[in-house]
Amino acid sequence: MIVLGIETSCDETGIAIYDNQRGLLAHELYSQVKLHTDYGGVVPELASRDHVRKIVPLVERTLQSAGLDKQGIDGIAYTRGPGLIGALLVGSSMARALAYAWKKPMIGVHHMEGHLLAPMLDNNPPSFPFVALLVSGGHSMLVDVKGIGEYRVLGESVDDAAGEAFDKTAKLLGLDYPGGPLLSKLAEEGETGHYQFPRPMTDRPGLDFSFSGLKTFAANTIRSCDGAHQTHANIALAFEEAIVDTLLIKCKRALKQTAYKRLVLAGGVAANKRLRASFENATKSGAFEVFYPSLAYCTDNGAMIAYAGCQRLVAGQRTEISATSLPRWPLENLSPLKNV
Ligand code: ATP
Ligand code: MG
Ligand code: FE
Repeated sequence: MIVLGIETSCDETGIAIYDNQRGLLAHELYSQVKLHTDYGGVVPELASRDHVRKIVPLVERTLQSAGLDKQGIDGIAYTRGPGLIGALLVGSSMARALAYAWKKPMIGVHHMEGHLLAPMLDNNPPSFPFVALLVSGGHSMLVDVKGIGEYRVLGESVDDAAGEAFDKTAKLLGLDYPGGPLLSKLAEEGETGHYQFPRPMTDRPGLDFSFSGLKTFAANTIRSCDGAHQTHANIALAFEEAIVDTLLIKCKRALKQTAYKRLVLAGGVAANKRLRASFENATKSGAFEVFYPSLAYCTDNGAMIAYAGCQRLVAGQRTEISATSLPRWPLENLSPLKNV
């Protein structure tokens, strides 16, 4: 089955075509980053309007690069939620229009399920069950994944998401939005040992996270520092080390609790080099294996939506054309998919 995937939950228009026989056939992305940089964050109304402008040409370009026309598409997958309502509506309108006009089945995909299954697009996909660490701009979660649609949230952030903490701290360091990758780049110039950031909520049991304290700690540290470039790099490094350490401690705990041997890192923050290196290093103990999507599929993209939608369409699931978008949608409410 060949599925066209549409992602518009936030500030990226992502379109892709996935074939369950041949894999990913095409993948196009338009990022609105430049549009929102001046505002230091995503402006929802501007995001919706830009999706409207970009989505049709992007669908056309994706079909062209896969060498397909509408007859070649067997189903449509789109991000139904969670996300910004205006942005979601653009993707759902496109999906509904195509499904209606082309007379093809349609499936609404959960954005975080897309992130969670993104490593499946890789050559060496993890098998079930596994623990997933979902760390993105809006979420930080540990999930017990028994199969597609069989998710139990083991822990989540009680305040800021990991990506949000990166972005807010980056802003305090004078970096542009989204600051996560820029902070990480600055941290490469940092020297260790100058600053010690806390590892929030690691001194008590449980799998929840809290990152807003780290941001406050960073704010105080930055305010009282000399403002030199090297000092900022040292702070960026200490902050990044604290986040990565905290995530690793919680992941090890989740693996122990579930007795699983596989860990999946997904979402935008999984693109972080130090995070990947530190988790790779931890696997040397032999206690677990780590999997993560290739860089292009960590942040928002259409490929993960096409993949997740294809699995559900192949299993016979459908979303009615009258279905509404879901800006909030608990991951645990998804239906399991046993027959794939
Ligand atoms: P959600 O998926 O929760 O709805 P989102 O879609 O906005 O949120 P993603 O696109 O998955 O989030 O990820 C974007 C986030 O990832 C941003 O906060 C960004 O700063 C962060 N990020 C991306 N690359 C890196 C990196 N190399 N290091 C740290 N953070 C990063
Ligand atoms: Mg984004
Ligand atoms: Fe996302």
